[in-house]
Amino acid sequence: VSIFKGKKVALFGLGGSGLITAQALSAGGAEVVAFDDREESCLMAARAGISVVDLREADWSQFSALVLSPGVPLTHPKPHWTVNLATDAGVEIMGDVELFARERRATCPDARLIAVTGTNGKSTTTALIGHILRTAGRDVQVGGNIGRAVLDLEPFESDRIYVVECSSYQIDLAPSLDPDAGILLNLTPDHLDRHGDMKRYAAIKERLVAGSSVAIIGMDDDYCRDIAQRLVVSGVAVVPISKSVAGRSGGLAFDGVAVMAFENGGWRTVADLSSHTVLRGRHNGQNAAAAIAACRSVGLKDEEIADAMMRFPGLAHRMQPVARRGEVLFVNDSKATNADASEPALQTFNNIFWILGGKPKQGGIASLQSFFPKISKAYLIGEAADAFAETLSGFTEIVMSGNLEKAVRAAADDAATSIDPLPVVLLSPACASFDQFRSFEKRGEAFVEFVSALSDVEMLLP
Ligand code: ADP
Repeated sequence: VSIFKGKKVALFGLGGSGLITAQALSAGGAEVVAFDDREESCLMAARAGISVVDLREADWSQFSALVLSPGVPLTHPKPHWTVNLATDAGVEIMGDVELFARERRATCPDARLIAVTGTNGKSTTTALIGHILRTAGRDVQVGGNIGRAVLDLEPFESDRIYVVECSSYQIDLAPSLDPDAGILLNLTPDHLDRHGDMKRYAAIKERLVAGSSVAIIGMDDDYCRDIAQRLVVSGVAVVPISKSVAGRSGGLAFDGVAVMAFENGGWRTVADLSSHTVLRGRHNGQNAAAAIAACRSVGLKDEEIADAMMRFPGLAHRMQPVARRGEVLFVNDSKATNADASEPALQTFNNIFWILGGKPKQGGIASLQSFFPKISKAYLIGEAADAFAETLSGFTEIVMSGNLEKAVRAAADDAATSIDPLPVVLLSPACASFDQFRSFEKRGEAFVEFVSALSDVEMLLP
């Protein structure tokens, strides 16, 4: 990053992307002084050759910018102390995505930028766009909130396309983000602990699409619809997308089977997802519609898009088909760490042998009750087992499995003798993993391992 060449920059937050950001700024000729509340992070940065200075005692008038990690509170519940010091000294505050956006503008405006946000589906949509563009032979870099930090991506080149997933935290710290195509998938209450209220959360997400040349917006919730309306009024090119064609007359929408484009007064099929092994369920119709709109915006033809989309292998731990054993499909949805996140999987499948539990979140699984008739049997693990058993009792048969290995074996046996069609052994825990696993990734990996140990199983993973 060369935009702060010869200038002094303060950086706070050395976990995750912070270190990479510090190194990118230094490599671009900035003088970086960094700090973190955690001593070990400071030590690690110092070992990596970064100048670590206690910013509480620094002379803030010398800094051209304060660069913050996405986790550091800008306003809510109260501004971080570095924010107060920077504000008092009139120092600009930003995050790595802002540095990335400014660098692009200053050094290589022809490099294309597609930015993706929303409450749910960000990673899937980002990965899907990356996959389609790569399959179509484009030079693509994928990163941001998924995979590599933006400043860790390959340098800007005019025919390179960057697909960047942005969390609300990152947008909050990127006031001049200006993607060629910006995607806002959906908005539901989440992360309100950091942003205070829904209005503010929505306003932050709106900024990403407001700054875009083409704004691709999901029309399936009130917040996004309001945003789309405002942008149309202010002259931004909006492509509406939806997970349903009902009542729509424009843009791209999913009809339950295929993503359709509204053209010449009617709907035309762009991509038929009925036989897709990964992109199942209406929520993926929304993600697919957004991806098609983004790929169209950089000049891809519908045929290339549809063709590549059919070969999307999916992301690990997100409703991912991992194995087949006779009629039985095994699905890893370990990323579902709360009841809301389990909903799409329960919506998608019908004859479900459901493995769930872990460290429960507030509200439990009561909100999923309308899906309980689809549960052939439930296998409970972890701390939530007793509470979930109570919620499920009377609706389905319950097995107190205790741990994941036992649950997999029991569910596999039961599903194998199911008399109803298309049995699915589904790990969709509706809980955090921390009582039994280090992360949802570890939990998903363990599931795959236990499944692969079953006899006569055909693994579906690459
Ligand atoms: P994010 O990156 O926004 O957390 P992911 O793509 O990782 O989203 O998907 C996480 C989970 O959210 C998925 O397993 C699925 O259950 C659900 N999901 C995915 N796409 C959507 C969508 N468009 N709308 C609602 N829920 C979704």
